[in-house]
Amino acid sequence: MEVLIIGAGIGGLTLALGLQRIGIAARVYESVPDVRPLGVGINILPHASRELALLGLEAELSRVSVLTREAAFFNRFGQLIYREPLGRDAGYDDPQYSIHRGALHRVLLDAAIARLGADRVRCGWTCSGFEQDAHGVVAHFDDTRAGDRRPDQRADALVACDGLHSVIRKRLHPAEGAPLYSGVNMWRGVSVSPPVLTGASMIRAGWLATGKMVIYPIANNVDGQGRQLVNWVAELETPRHRQRDWTRPGALADFIGAFEDWHFDWLDVPAMIRAAQTILEFPMVDQDPLPWWTQGRVTLLGDAAHPMYPRGSNGAGQAIVDARALCDALASTASVGDALKAYEAQRLATTAAIVRMNRSNPPDAILREVYERTGDQPFERIEDVIAHDELAAITERYRRATGTVAPAAPSR
Ligand SMILES: Cc1cc2nc3c(=O)[nH]c(=O)nc-3n(C[C@H](O)[C@H](O)[C@H](O)COP(=O)(O)OP(=O)(O)OC[C@H]3O[C@@H](n4cnc5c(N)ncnc54)[C@H](O)[C@@H]3O)c2cc1C
Repeated sequence: MEVLIIGAGIGGLTLALGLQRIGIAARVYESVPDVRPLGVGINILPHASRELALLGLEAELSRVSVLTREAAFFNRFGQLIYREPLGRDAGYDDPQYSIHRGALHRVLLDAAIARLGADRVRCGWTCSGFEQDAHGVVAHFDDTRAGDRRPDQRADALVACDGLHSVIRKRLHPAEGAPLYSGVNMWRGVSVSPPVLTGASMIRAGWLATGKMVIYPIANNVDGQGRQLVNWVAELETPRHRQRDWTRPGALADFIGAFEDWHFDWLDVPAMIRAAQTILEFPMVDQDPLPWWTQGRVTLLGDAAHPMYPRGSNGAGQAIVDARALCDALASTASVGDALKAYEAQRLATTAAIVRMNRSNPPDAILREVYERTGDQPFERIEDVIAHDELAAITERYRRATGTVAPAAPSR
């Protein structure tokens, strides 16, 4: 059996490594001619890092990331609402990685080239479509730079890991509408900063109506003096947004006003934002879950299958879990078509639930509750606003929906 993987992003490369591990041949085709370390920060939760550990990547990932220890939630006045342990500090066997997407991508790409061979990870090949029959599937490609047609490629199965703008998804569901804008625009950047709180804290503060920040470190000691690379995302309700593009530059003036007075004793937020060399802009969009992903020998994986709001650190993680499920299905099912169907049966409903939950009740629903109950005012005692158990139940519900089952005995 041989599998064609379209897209050498996080999902496609994880799938390639997983298939190689179980002895199934794969070839990866990526449209970008020279893969560069793009993006900003990303989180990999324990249910996904477990899969990366099985692929033998734990040591390398630990070297280039921050092992996240806690989540901390604040209001826009810098008052602590709630904190809880994360990753190994919460008792999981596997860590939560906070990592530059480019660093994660590099680790996966280097491993895929080393294990599959450079001739099986081809860059500059843009997939334009496919055809299939009873015996196999043929993918069509263009040379990304020159635009010329590349030779068709034939195999037993094709997995579309081609991300948000998936051409295969469009082929399978041509009538699907445009991405759905949430009403929230995001500005993202990375800044060199002294460690904040524990130096391994994932911070969420404020609320979308008046401005929300997500802040977490993604690399340690980047200057030899203990400073970290800190990822931040500013999120703000506004009708103003542009088409989703991971590399679109953003402008400070469009959002800094919402955070200008966020000078806390634990962090000067506007100073941190201004320290970023580059600001990227991205709209919070998703798409309604699809009714099906698989047609014969072709299926979807990762963002191509289930684009979701980045509100629960699950975009990359769910692509990684998809890859594992597909490997298991291909290893245990004789017919390719049946294997792809079994994978879809296992993953579609689960990921659809996460897409919906990211719209309504991701972990930052904690911030919404406090915003609404306080009327966006400082509080005297958080216990008078909301009970600790109610806050804990919000994150626990999300963990159950996303497959990050809470460990029995948290270590602190
Ligand atoms: C440049 C870039 C920057 C990103 N930055 C961030 C970030 O800062 N933070 C964050 O949370 N998420 C980011 N993401 C998204 C994140 O990687 C995904 O949400 C998540 O990892 C799911 O992975 P995926 O493999 O489904 O998609 P992706 O990781 O997006 O990978 C899709 C891959 O398919 C390739 N591709 C697309 N069309 C074709 C085609 N027709 N033929 C061949 N190949 C094709 C793309 O070039 C890409 O390499 C970024 C994605 C990209 C591509």
